[in-house]
Amino acid sequence: MSCSTCRSTSFVTFKHQALCGNCKKELHPGEAVDMNLVCINCGNEPYSRCYTQPGKQEVLISGLCELCFDEITSEPEEEGALEEPEIELPF
Ligand SMILES: [Zn+2]
Ligand SMILES: [Zn+2]
Repeated sequence: MSCSTCRSTSFVTFKHQALCGNCKKELHPGEAVDMNLVCINCGNEPYSRCYTQPGKQEVLISGLCELCFDEITSEPEEEGALEEPEIELPF
């Protein structure tokens, strides 16, 4: 099957909902059966990019493969990074 709106054959998941990977239309449960699940961020098959069980469960909730999930959630906190460096005048 493919998306009845845009004919896309890939779908993503978000909060346990299947959405068309292209137009993000909500798909009926049976509609996504033969479609390819892809990561919402990188477009790759997500389960091959998961290495833990919680990561696989996360695919259905966030739509992200584990590698993307880690990348997005592990952004370093830049507390204090906006502070002006103290400049010492050279005299
Ligand atoms: Zn679509
Ligand atoms: Zn990904």
